[in-house]
Order: sequence, then C-alpha cells, then structure tokens
Amino acid sequence: MQLIDHGNSLIIPGFVDLHLHAPQFANLGLGLDKELMQWLETYTFPEESKYSNIDYARKVYLTFIRELWKVGTTRACVFATLHKNATKLLIDLFDQSGLFGEVPTVMANCVLVDEEEIELMARKKVFVAHSPNSNCNLSSGIAPIRRLITRGIPVGLATDVSAGHSLSMNSVLVNASQVSNIKWLESGRVDKPLSTAELFYLATKAGGQFFGKVGSFEENYEFDALVIDDSSLSIFKTLTIEERLQKFIYTGDDRNIKERYVAGKKIEEPKCC
Ligand SMILES: [Zn+2]
Repeated sequence: MQLIDHGNSLIIPGFVDLHLHAPQFANLGLGLDKELMQWLETYTFPEESKYSNIDYARKVYLTFIRELWKVGTTRACVFATLHKNATKLLIDLFDQSGLFGEVPTVMANCVLVDEEEIELMARKKVFVAHSPNSNCNLSSGIAPIRRLITRGIPVGLATDVSAGHSLSMNSVLVNASQVSNIKWLESGRVDKPLSTAELFYLATKAGGQFFGKVGSFEENYEFDALVIDDSSLSIFKTLTIEERLQKFIYTGDDRNIKERYVAGKKIEEPKCC
C-alpha cells in the first residue's frame, strides 16, 4: 500500500450529489426568477430536446463531468434525457473519468409532504434527495428535513442542477443550513435546525448509502476522499477540525480541493473539449 503524507490538509469523504440533471447543465443560472411551469417551458424542455444531437451532448457532457470533478463530487445520481445515444455517451464519459455517476431514478425534493406521506416514506424507506437551492429558486418551499430524519427516512443532499444554480455541494450545504434555520422558526422553534455535522453527514455518508458502503472512512467503506488545503481561508487562530470543516464549507470552494479519490483511486482532471 502507498502512504501519502498530506501534511496539515483536511481529508474528508467525497461529496455525494443525489440528484442532478446533466442535460440542464447549459442552463445553469438561467430563468430562476420564473415559476416552475414557466421555467420548464422556457428553458428546460427546449434545452433537453437538443440531446438528439450527439455532438451537442458530447460538448456539454464533457464540460459537465469536468466541473463535477472540480467541485469534489465523487458520486452522483445523474438524470439524462430520453435520447438513448446521448445517455449512453454520458455513462461512457463517467466510466472514463473514474467518477461514479449512476443514471437512475430517485425521489426528489419532497417539499410538500403530509403526515400520511411521511408514514408511507418511512415504511418504504424512500430515499429523499434534499435540494434546498432548487426549492428556493423555484419557490417550492422548505422540506421538513428534521421531521423526515427523526422518522428514520434516509435523506441525502442534492444540487438538482439546473433548478439548483450550482454544482457545488458547498453551496447546497450552506443553503440547507439556512433553510433549516427558517424551518425552525416557522415550526414555532420545534424542528431543531440541522448542525454543520449533521449536514456534512447528509452530504457524505447518508447520501453515500445509496451507493453502498460509501461516504465514510470507517472500516470496509470504499475510500472516496477529498484532500482540502484550507490555508488560504483567512485562518488567524487555532481552529478545531470541525471549525476548519465549517470554514471550508461556508467560505471554501473548488480551489481548495487538491486531490480527489474514488474507491481508492486518485481521479485526475477529466479531459475536456
Ligand atoms: Zn430534478
């Protein structure tokens, strides 16, 4: 086994993004002042119809995967279009990159759930992909994550690009924290806000369950990891490991990620266009 010393860097499990749309990558940041139906009709449907053109698909998907690599997402549950060739291409590109991209169906969002639905989700162990960026952008509301977790429903985090405006899980973690604070107020201070540690767990081990033993450094887990150099993050006093992680989540970005590993293998920058 090879031993590498990363000095004072932080080494954390890679991020798991449970729900995002590769064919909406070109729409990142567009039309998020619209409501859902209007947004779908103006941006999403016309864009996704372009994927009958394999050259267009290749151009966007190559960039998409490179950007996913950059932001430290090591596992992703990626939605494509109904175009067989473009979808096959996306799967091939993931294989080549060494990043782990599953192209399936998971339940997303779950903003408006009543007690009966929570009961059903708990019984069926439905996986919830919490996408606060998307929920806020399209005014869908705030998912009752504290209640879902308390009931034992598996929850992970997701960017839901391009209803979510960023591929970065840092951005999702921050927004998930903010909306959970608001949910706490709205619930008459009953649904306790999610701590950074809880959110980090959702973004790694909790979402990682979807892929098997992923998202933790415990024994028998696959080694998905990010090496974080946080020395540029204005640190003027001694911080605990948890505080350093907090600072990276809130103020860091892909520039702080020095290396990425998936299942023990170092992943180099994917070739792009
Ligand atoms: Zn979605």
